[in-house]
Amino acid sequence: MRVHDSLIELMGDTPLVRLHNVAAGVPAQVLAKVEYFNPGGSVKDRIALRMVEAAERSGALRPGGTIVEPTSGNTGVGLAIVAQRKGYRCLFVVPDKVAKDKVAVLRAYGAEVVVCPTAVSPDHPDSYYSASDRLARETPNAWKPDQYSNPENPASHYHSTGPEIWEQTEGRITHFVAGIGTGGTISGAGRYLKDVSGGRVKVIGADPEGSVYSGGSGRPYLVEGVGEDIWPATYDTGVCDEVIAVADRDSFGMTRRLAREEALLVGGSCGMAVVAALRVAAAGGPDDVVVVLLPDGGRGYLSKIFNDDWMADYGFLSTSTDEGAVRDVL
Ligand code: PMP
Repeated sequence: MRVHDSLIELMGDTPLVRLHNVAAGVPAQVLAKVEYFNPGGSVKDRIALRMVEAAERSGALRPGGTIVEPTSGNTGVGLAIVAQRKGYRCLFVVPDKVAKDKVAVLRAYGAEVVVCPTAVSPDHPDSYYSASDRLARETPNAWKPDQYSNPENPASHYHSTGPEIWEQTEGRITHFVAGIGTGGTISGAGRYLKDVSGGRVKVIGADPEGSVYSGGSGRPYLVEGVGEDIWPATYDTGVCDEVIAVADRDSFGMTRRLAREEALLVGGSCGMAVVAALRVAAAGGPDDVVVVLLPDGGRGYLSKIFNDDWMADYGFLSTSTDEGAVRDVL
């Protein structure tokens, strides 16, 4: 019988899909690594599996234990799937800017979720960093994966995402573009692609305007899952050849175009990464192969990015928004 024993076996090995309309007129090929094909719907399944299995081996996570983690949703889903299969409880802490739909998804998988305010500093007792530390201390038999410092986060991308892209492009990739949140994706996959190509592959980070990675001071920006106000240990500061800052307006405009013109219903950090990738591709030549990683699907953002009223409230919806995004990248 053609049967998978569990969803865990289906994590990784995501497809690479060519972008057509949004990349019209740019000389380089632009290929999207579509991570919503993971069973949890995002790139974070990869790190969830590797972090849990490493913790089981080290004894940090014991049978019947509780996984406590601050997560903007996607890591939580990956952890919840792995935890369910392996019999662990999940307790997640999320910032209040995260879409309600995403929190509902975590709860649907059986996880407990604590929502914390975004408008406080990281060392405030109510911040989502502090609250998760406290819950990890107070919960018996708890293990905190800490995706912001766990070396298994970038390692998962060094050992899966990076090699997949290299094989899928038969070594022809010239540029790798990804958003930076914990930095795990770009540090792991980017470092692998540099190592395997002898430094030939250029690695380009995409970052929301205002985030520290592109020289900002922290907040505010609306795109979820990327950008930071701190420098996490999982980000290899030497991996990026360039970091491109993208405005929320352009990220969301491109996210909507990806759904309408490429049938890729993806999240806002995907639109952000594609804007950066198109800037890279526009400056490249016909032999360049630009791979852009799309971290998650768009269903968690229907009430925000794909909602005209929400977009209009922020002034992102004008007749020229989408055209503006194209003009900006070309
Ligand atoms: N996009 C989304 C939607 C995410 O949830 C994340 C993870 N925080 C990222 C991008 C960035 O990935 P990484 O943490 O590996 O830098």
